[in-house]
Amino acid sequence: MKITYNLHQIKINIPSKVTIVAVSKTKTREDILEAYHAGHRDFGENRVQELVSKQSELPKDINWHMVGHLQSNKVKYIAPIVSLIHSIDSLKLLKEVNRQAMKCKRIIPVLIQVKIAQEVSKFGLEIEKIDELITLSKQFRGTEIKGLMGMASFTSNRKQLISEFKSLKTLFDKLKTTNTQMDILSMGMTQDYLLAITQGSTMVRIGRKIFGERIK
Ligand SMILES: *Cc1c(COP(=O)(O)O)cnc(C)c1O
Repeated sequence: MKITYNLHQIKINIPSKVTIVAVSKTKTREDILEAYHAGHRDFGENRVQELVSKQSELPKDINWHMVGHLQSNKVKYIAPIVSLIHSIDSLKLLKEVNRQAMKCKRIIPVLIQVKIAQEVSKFGLEIEKIDELITLSKQFRGTEIKGLMGMASFTSNRKQLISEFKSLKTLFDKLKTTNTQMDILSMGMTQDYLLAITQGSTMVRIGRKIFGERIK
């Protein structure tokens, strides 16, 4: 009941056009099923193995999002089943997603993960390198770049968060003028999703606020 309640609380405070990806990493099948029975269909995982095994055991109309850092050698396991990969951060990875998508005769929707945080530890491609990746991606028939994803710094400094989200939104708007298929801006997590939405996010990735703190 708690998960259903949490999801409801989030939904009633954000525009209905914002997609909520319930980040279920480390959480149980039962937890996911509670959200599912409350009508939720979008779930996010950050480990390939966990996504694959949950997908095989849970209802087939769930949309599985890969939100975590993805290694090229593991793409083959998720290629047949993933709905959206949020974490494309190199040409090498995009190439491999394309290759595996062609093998399963799919077009896999992806987001480019952009480095917006001032923190050194965060993954993502530097803003200056995005144009080149998008240009090179035009030759790929197995992937479609649907937008951008970013993770802000782990800080409570609102000014810093706003400036990081703004930099991603500005880039997104610029790219959209020439890439009309781009309509997803994935930014915002438990600590900052409300702020991210005020800055133009269309998709939030929320874990702890839905499922509770992670123990593992
Ligand atoms: C874990 C994770 C989230 C969710 O984080 P919460 O703080 O639990 O909301 C969002 N995005 C990515 C990439 C994650 O790994």
